[in-house]
Amino acid sequence: MATFGTLSDRLTETFRNLRKKGQLTPADVDGTVREIRRALLDADVALPVVKEFTAAVRERALGDEVNRALNPAQQVVQIVNDELIGILGGQQRRLEFAKNPPTVIMLAGLQGSGKTTFAGKLAKMLEKDGHTPLLVACDLQRPNAVNQLQVVAERAGATIYAPEPGNGVGDPVKVARDGVAYATRQQHDIVIIDTAGRLGVDAELMKQAADIRHATNPDEVLFVIDAMIGQDAVNTAKAFQDGVDFTGVVLSKLDGDARGGAALSVASVTGRPIIFASTGEGLDDVEPFYPDRMASRILD
Ligand code: GDP
Repeated sequence: MATFGTLSDRLTETFRNLRKKGQLTPADVDGTVREIRRALLDADVALPVVKEFTAAVRERALGDEVNRALNPAQQVVQIVNDELIGILGGQQRRLEFAKNPPTVIMLAGLQGSGKTTFAGKLAKMLEKDGHTPLLVACDLQRPNAVNQLQVVAERAGATIYAPEPGNGVGDPVKVARDGVAYATRQQHDIVIIDTAGRLGVDAELMKQAADIRHATNPDEVLFVIDAMIGQDAVNTAKAFQDGVDFTGVVLSKLDGDARGGAALSVASVTGRPIIFASTGEGLDDVEPFYPDRMASRILD
Protein backbone atom coordinates (compact mmCIF):
# COMPACT_ATOMS: atom_id res chain seq x y z
CA MET A 1 0.00 0.00 0.00
CA ALA A 2 1.48 3.26 -1.09
CA THR A 3 -0.96 5.17 1.05
CA PHE A 4 1.26 5.77 4.02
CA GLY A 5 4.51 6.41 2.18
CA THR A 6 5.03 10.04 3.11
CA LEU A 7 3.70 9.74 6.63
CA SER A 8 5.80 6.67 7.18
CA ASP A 9 8.94 8.40 5.87
CA ARG A 10 8.38 11.43 8.07
CA LEU A 11 7.86 9.38 11.21
CA THR A 12 10.91 7.25 10.42
CA GLU A 13 12.97 10.42 10.07
CA THR A 14 11.63 11.79 13.36
CA PHE A 15 12.53 8.60 15.18
CA ARG A 16 15.94 8.41 13.55
CA ASN A 17 16.74 11.83 15.04
CA LEU A 18 15.34 10.80 18.38
CA ARG A 19 17.47 7.65 18.51
CA LYS A 20 20.60 9.77 18.29
CA LYS A 21 19.88 11.02 21.79
CA GLY A 22 20.45 9.05 24.98
CA GLN A 23 18.27 10.27 27.83
CA LEU A 24 15.37 12.35 26.60
CA THR A 25 14.64 15.80 28.01
CA PRO A 26 11.07 17.16 28.05
CA ALA A 27 12.18 19.44 25.20
CA ASP A 28 13.19 16.39 23.12
CA VAL A 29 9.78 14.84 23.74
CA ASP A 30 7.97 18.06 22.85
CA GLY A 31 9.97 18.44 19.66
CA THR A 32 9.17 14.87 18.65
CA VAL A 33 5.48 15.25 19.42
CA ARG A 34 5.39 18.45 17.36
CA GLU A 35 6.91 16.65 14.38
CA ILE A 36 4.47 13.76 14.71
CA ARG A 37 1.62 16.27 14.87
CA ARG A 38 2.75 17.98 11.68
CA ALA A 39 3.24 14.70 9.85
CA LEU A 40 -0.27 13.52 10.79
CA LEU A 41 -1.89 16.81 9.79
CA ASP A 42 -0.06 16.76 6.46
CA ALA A 43 -1.37 13.22 5.93
CA ASP A 44 -4.93 14.62 6.27
CA VAL A 45 -5.66 13.02 9.62
CA ALA A 46 -8.60 14.83 11.26
CA LEU A 47 -7.60 17.49 13.79
CA PRO A 48 -9.46 16.05 16.81
CA VAL A 49 -7.77 12.69 16.18
CA VAL A 50 -4.35 14.34 15.89
CA LYS A 51 -4.90 16.27 19.13
CA GLU A 52 -6.02 13.24 21.09
CA PHE A 53 -3.22 11.12 19.68
CA THR A 54 -0.41 13.58 20.34
CA ALA A 55 -1.71 14.37 23.85
CA ALA A 56 -1.67 10.66 24.70
CA VAL A 57 1.81 10.15 23.24
CA ARG A 58 3.18 13.22 25.02
CA GLU A 59 1.77 12.26 28.39
CA ARG A 60 3.17 8.74 28.21
CA ALA A 61 6.50 9.85 26.71
CA LEU A 62 7.08 12.24 29.60
CA GLY A 63 6.19 9.56 32.14
CA ASP A 64 8.07 6.88 33.98
CA GLU A 65 7.98 4.19 31.33
CA VAL A 66 10.35 6.28 29.19
CA ASN A 67 12.49 7.57 32.07
CA ARG A 68 13.15 4.06 33.30
CA ALA A 69 13.66 2.55 29.85
CA LEU A 70 17.08 1.28 28.80
CA ASN A 71 16.44 2.74 25.41
CA PRO A 72 14.16 5.77 25.83
CA ALA A 73 13.85 6.54 22.11
CA GLN A 74 12.76 2.98 21.39
CA GLN A 75 10.22 3.26 24.19
CA VAL A 76 8.75 6.38 22.57
CA VAL A 77 8.44 4.50 19.26
CA GLN A 78 6.66 1.72 21.15
CA ILE A 79 4.24 4.24 22.66
CA VAL A 80 3.51 5.74 19.23
CA ASN A 81 2.92 2.22 17.92
CA ASP A 82 0.49 1.38 20.77
CA GLU A 83 -1.40 4.62 20.35
CA LEU A 84 -1.63 4.14 16.56
CA ILE A 85 -3.12 0.70 17.11
CA GLY A 86 -5.56 2.37 19.48
CA ILE A 87 -6.82 4.95 16.97
CA LEU A 88 -7.06 2.25 14.32
CA GLY A 89 -9.50 0.39 16.55
CA GLY A 90 -7.35 -1.77 18.81
CA GLN A 91 -8.13 -5.44 18.30
CA GLN A 92 -8.96 -6.90 14.92
CA ARG A 93 -12.73 -7.18 14.57
CA ARG A 94 -14.19 -10.01 12.48
CA LEU A 95 -17.58 -10.09 10.82
CA GLU A 96 -20.42 -11.08 13.13
CA PHE A 97 -22.65 -13.89 11.93
CA ALA A 98 -26.25 -14.39 12.97
CA LYS A 99 -27.10 -17.32 15.24
CA ASN A 100 -29.99 -18.11 12.94
CA PRO A 101 -29.07 -17.71 9.27
CA PRO A 102 -29.26 -15.85 7.06
CA THR A 103 -26.75 -13.30 8.29
CA VAL A 104 -27.71 -9.99 6.71
CA ILE A 105 -24.90 -7.61 5.73
CA MET A 106 -25.90 -4.23 4.37
CA LEU A 107 -23.46 -1.97 2.52
CA ALA A 108 -23.76 1.81 2.58
CA GLY A 109 -21.63 4.68 1.33
CA LEU A 110 -21.30 7.37 -1.30
CA GLN A 111 -21.57 6.60 -5.00
CA GLY A 112 -18.20 5.55 -6.34
CA SER A 113 -16.89 4.56 -2.91
CA GLY A 114 -16.46 0.97 -4.03
CA LYS A 115 -19.62 -0.65 -2.58
CA THR A 116 -20.57 -2.79 -5.55
CA THR A 117 -17.01 -3.97 -6.08
CA PHE A 118 -16.74 -4.76 -2.38
CA ALA A 119 -20.03 -6.71 -2.51
CA GLY A 120 -18.35 -9.04 -5.02
CA LYS A 121 -15.15 -9.24 -2.99
CA LEU A 122 -17.07 -10.08 0.16
CA ALA A 123 -19.16 -12.72 -1.62
CA LYS A 124 -16.02 -14.32 -2.97
CA MET A 125 -14.27 -14.32 0.40
CA LEU A 126 -17.31 -15.82 2.10
CA GLU A 127 -17.69 -18.50 -0.56
CA LYS A 128 -14.09 -19.55 0.01
CA ASP A 129 -15.05 -20.09 3.64
CA GLY A 130 -17.93 -22.36 2.60
CA HIS A 131 -20.77 -19.83 2.80
CA THR A 132 -23.48 -19.40 0.19
CA PRO A 133 -23.99 -15.63 -0.07
CA LEU A 134 -26.82 -14.02 -1.97
CA LEU A 135 -26.23 -10.55 -3.42
CA VAL A 136 -29.29 -8.31 -3.34
CA ALA A 137 -29.42 -5.35 -5.74
CA CYS A 138 -31.04 -2.41 -3.95
CA ASP A 139 -29.26 0.34 -5.83
CA LEU A 140 -32.17 1.24 -8.09
CA GLN A 141 -31.01 4.83 -8.39
CA ARG A 142 -28.39 4.46 -11.09
CA PRO A 143 -29.68 2.88 -14.30
CA ASN A 144 -26.66 0.63 -14.62
CA ALA A 145 -26.18 -0.34 -10.99
CA VAL A 146 -28.15 -3.61 -11.12
CA ASN A 147 -26.25 -4.69 -14.24
CA GLN A 148 -22.97 -3.83 -12.57
CA LEU A 149 -23.84 -5.98 -9.55
CA GLN A 150 -24.88 -8.75 -11.94
CA VAL A 151 -21.44 -8.65 -13.57
CA VAL A 152 -19.71 -8.63 -10.18
CA ALA A 153 -21.88 -11.53 -8.95
CA GLU A 154 -21.01 -13.55 -12.04
CA ARG A 155 -17.29 -12.92 -11.56
CA ALA A 156 -17.61 -13.91 -7.90
CA GLY A 157 -19.66 -16.98 -8.81
CA ALA A 158 -22.44 -15.75 -6.51
CA THR A 159 -26.21 -15.70 -6.92
CA ILE A 160 -27.92 -12.34 -7.25
CA TYR A 161 -31.44 -11.29 -6.33
CA ALA A 162 -32.57 -8.34 -8.44
CA PRO A 163 -36.00 -6.85 -9.03
CA GLU A 164 -37.93 -8.29 -11.97
CA PRO A 165 -39.19 -5.57 -14.28
CA GLY A 166 -42.60 -4.54 -12.99
CA ASN A 167 -42.09 -6.21 -9.65
CA GLY A 168 -40.82 -3.86 -6.99
CA VAL A 169 -38.86 -1.73 -9.43
CA GLY A 170 -38.20 1.62 -7.78
CA ASP A 171 -38.76 0.34 -4.27
CA PRO A 172 -35.40 -0.68 -2.82
CA VAL A 173 -36.90 -1.36 0.61
CA LYS A 174 -39.25 -3.97 -0.83
CA VAL A 175 -36.42 -5.50 -2.87
CA ALA A 176 -34.28 -5.74 0.27
CA ARG A 177 -37.07 -7.38 2.26
CA ASP A 178 -37.95 -9.77 -0.57
CA GLY A 179 -34.26 -10.58 -1.05
CA VAL A 180 -33.89 -11.66 2.57
CA ALA A 181 -37.07 -13.78 2.30
CA TYR A 182 -35.72 -15.35 -0.91
CA ALA A 183 -32.39 -16.15 0.79
CA THR A 184 -34.24 -17.84 3.64
CA ARG A 185 -36.31 -19.95 1.21
CA GLN A 186 -33.30 -20.87 -0.91
CA GLN A 187 -31.08 -21.51 2.13
CA HIS A 188 -28.45 -18.91 1.41
CA ASP A 189 -26.73 -18.42 4.75
CA ILE A 190 -25.64 -14.83 4.05
CA VAL A 191 -27.35 -11.89 2.36
CA ILE A 192 -25.29 -8.96 1.08
CA ILE A 193 -27.42 -5.90 0.34
CA ASP A 194 -25.93 -3.34 -2.04
CA THR A 195 -27.60 0.06 -1.60
CA ALA A 196 -27.69 3.28 -3.59
CA GLY A 197 -25.11 6.00 -3.08
CA ARG A 198 -25.10 9.65 -4.09
CA LEU A 199 -22.18 11.81 -5.03
CA GLY A 200 -22.72 13.74 -1.83
CA VAL A 201 -24.54 13.02 1.39
CA ASP A 202 -28.26 13.78 1.13
CA ALA A 203 -31.32 13.33 3.29
CA GLU A 204 -33.24 11.15 0.84
CA LEU A 205 -30.34 8.74 0.49
CA MET A 206 -30.00 8.50 4.24
CA LYS A 207 -33.70 7.89 4.72
CA GLN A 208 -33.68 5.14 2.09
CA ALA A 209 -30.69 3.44 3.71
CA ALA A 210 -32.26 3.80 7.17
CA ASP A 211 -35.52 2.31 5.83
CA ILE A 212 -33.64 -0.67 4.35
CA ARG A 213 -31.89 -1.15 7.64
CA HIS A 214 -35.18 -1.02 9.50
CA ALA A 215 -36.84 -3.47 7.09
CA THR A 216 -34.06 -6.08 7.13
CA ASN A 217 -32.53 -5.72 10.60
CA PRO A 218 -28.98 -6.46 9.41
CA ASP A 219 -26.37 -8.16 11.56
CA GLU A 220 -23.76 -5.87 10.05
CA VAL A 221 -24.05 -2.50 8.33
CA LEU A 222 -20.74 -1.81 6.63
CA PHE A 223 -19.89 1.73 5.64
CA VAL A 224 -17.64 1.69 2.59
CA ILE A 225 -15.37 4.71 2.33
CA ASP A 226 -12.91 5.71 -0.35
CA ALA A 227 -9.59 6.42 1.37
CA MET A 228 -8.80 8.91 -1.39
CA ILE A 229 -11.36 11.45 -0.17
CA GLY A 230 -8.99 12.68 2.52
CA GLN A 231 -10.38 15.29 4.91
CA ASP A 232 -13.96 14.73 3.71
CA ALA A 233 -13.85 11.22 5.09
CA VAL A 234 -14.64 12.27 8.61
CA ASN A 235 -17.68 14.40 7.76
CA THR A 236 -19.04 11.77 5.40
CA ALA A 237 -18.57 9.05 8.02
CA LYS A 238 -20.30 11.14 10.66
CA ALA A 239 -23.21 11.87 8.33
CA PHE A 240 -23.66 8.14 7.66
CA GLN A 241 -23.34 7.36 11.33
CA ASP A 242 -26.08 9.86 12.18
CA GLY A 243 -28.27 8.88 9.24
CA VAL A 244 -28.01 5.09 9.11
CA ASP A 245 -25.50 4.13 11.75
CA PHE A 246 -23.12 1.35 10.88
CA THR A 247 -21.41 -1.46 12.71
CA GLY A 248 -18.12 -1.42 10.81
CA VAL A 249 -16.07 0.29 8.14
CA VAL A 250 -14.60 -0.90 4.85
CA LEU A 251 -11.72 1.28 3.66
CA SER A 252 -11.49 1.09 -0.09
CA LYS A 253 -8.86 2.23 -2.58
CA LEU A 254 -6.05 1.89 -0.08
CA ASP A 255 -3.90 1.02 -3.08
CA GLY A 256 -4.21 4.60 -4.30
CA ASP A 257 -1.94 7.48 -3.44
CA ALA A 258 -4.17 8.95 -0.74
CA ARG A 259 -2.30 10.40 2.17
CA GLY A 260 -3.83 8.02 4.67
CA GLY A 261 -5.84 10.47 6.75
CA ALA A 262 -9.14 8.69 6.18
CA ALA A 263 -7.71 5.41 7.35
CA LEU A 264 -6.29 7.02 10.43
CA SER A 265 -9.35 9.07 11.34
CA VAL A 266 -12.52 7.12 10.66
CA ALA A 267 -12.37 4.44 13.34
CA SER A 268 -11.42 6.93 16.00
CA VAL A 269 -14.00 9.55 15.05
CA THR A 270 -16.92 7.11 14.71
CA GLY A 271 -15.90 4.56 17.33
CA ARG A 272 -16.61 1.85 14.73
CA PRO A 273 -13.98 -0.69 13.73
CA ILE A 274 -12.43 -0.97 10.29
CA ILE A 275 -13.18 -4.57 9.29
CA PHE A 276 -11.81 -4.78 5.73
CA ALA A 277 -9.30 -2.96 3.55
CA SER A 278 -9.90 -2.93 -0.20
CA THR A 279 -6.77 -2.58 -2.26
CA GLY A 280 -7.65 -2.75 -5.94
CA GLU A 281 -10.28 -3.30 -8.60
CA GLY A 282 -9.94 -7.08 -8.73
CA LEU A 283 -12.23 -9.27 -6.64
CA ASP A 284 -9.29 -10.70 -4.70
CA ASP A 285 -7.96 -7.29 -3.76
CA VAL A 286 -9.30 -7.23 -0.24
CA GLU A 287 -8.05 -8.24 3.17
CA PRO A 288 -9.23 -8.24 6.76
CA PHE A 289 -8.03 -5.14 8.55
CA TYR A 290 -5.51 -5.65 11.34
CA PRO A 291 -4.86 -2.46 13.35
CA ASP A 292 -1.51 -3.79 14.62
CA ARG A 293 -0.23 -4.70 11.15
CA MET A 294 -1.32 -1.34 9.79
CA ALA A 295 0.49 0.46 12.62
CA SER A 296 3.68 -1.53 11.92
CA ARG A 297 3.38 -0.73 8.23
CA ILE A 298 3.22 2.96 9.03
CA LEU A 299 6.14 2.85 11.48
CA ASP A 300 8.40 0.50 9.55
P1 GDP B 1 -20.10 2.12 -5.83
O1 GDP B 1 -20.69 3.23 -6.65
O2 GDP B 1 -19.92 2.53 -4.40
O3 GDP B 1 -20.83 0.83 -5.97
O4 GDP B 1 -18.59 1.92 -6.36
P2 GDP B 1 -18.01 0.85 -7.38
O5 GDP B 1 -17.87 -0.48 -6.73
O6 GDP B 1 -18.79 0.93 -8.65
O7 GDP B 1 -16.53 1.42 -7.59
C1 GDP B 1 -16.28 2.66 -8.21
C2 GDP B 1 -14.95 2.57 -8.97
O8 GDP B 1 -13.87 2.34 -8.07
C3 GDP B 1 -14.90 1.40 -9.95
O9 GDP B 1 -14.22 1.84 -11.10
C4 GDP B 1 -14.11 0.33 -9.22
O10 GDP B 1 -13.41 -0.53 -10.12
C5 GDP B 1 -13.14 1.17 -8.42
N1 GDP B 1 -12.73 0.52 -7.16
C6 GDP B 1 -13.48 -0.09 -6.22
N2 GDP B 1 -12.72 -0.52 -5.19
C7 GDP B 1 -11.44 -0.18 -5.48
C8 GDP B 1 -10.17 -0.34 -4.79
O11 GDP B 1 -10.05 -0.89 -3.69
N3 GDP B 1 -9.08 0.16 -5.42
C9 GDP B 1 -9.15 0.78 -6.63
N4 GDP B 1 -8.03 1.25 -7.16
N5 GDP B 1 -10.30 0.96 -7.31
C10 GDP B 1 -11.44 0.49 -6.73
